[in-house]
Amino acid sequence: MKLEILCYPDARLNKIAEPVLQVDERIAQLADDMLETMYDANGVGLAAIQVNVQERVIVVDVSQTRDEPLVLINPQIVEHSNTLILHEEGCLSVPDIYDDVERWDWVAVEALDKQGKSFRVEADGLLAVCLQHEIDHLDGHVFVEYLSTLKRNRIRTKLLKRAREQGKQ
Ligand code: ZN
Repeated sequence: MKLEILCYPDARLNKIAEPVLQVDERIAQLADDMLETMYDANGVGLAAIQVNVQERVIVVDVSQTRDEPLVLINPQIVEHSNTLILHEEGCLSVPDIYDDVERWDWVAVEALDKQGKSFRVEADGLLAVCLQHEIDHLDGHVFVEYLSTLKRNRIRTKLLKRAREQGKQ
């Protein structure tokens, strides 16, 4: 089932997600719905917070072929490099806005899979950026917070105006 994606500056994007206590059928279904929503919107990642579920679940697929889904439940960055890279980011909650954000160029993330089994991903490049971006969402952070106040206010105004126009239609 496709889910509705919250749009910045919706205050619900700033909520902090709770850890998943039990990986059960409900969580597996949430992950499947999130993947469907992400693929439908042509995104490379989605956090549960973005579909108004305050639980620590993210889905990611950075493959060209769009057939390498990753589901991470209670993801945690356990190691990272000290090298920062500047990478252009976008977000399904901030449509049509892209800008450069500094991130670690390598991370190791531990999480549970849909069966509740723990696993570890080591990532660089786009996957590393994407994992940091999605885990940020679980802590109530949207990437535009890293941009200058001027840029952020412009984005805010633009998206609020667009939402108003869409509301009138
Ligand atoms: Zn995002």
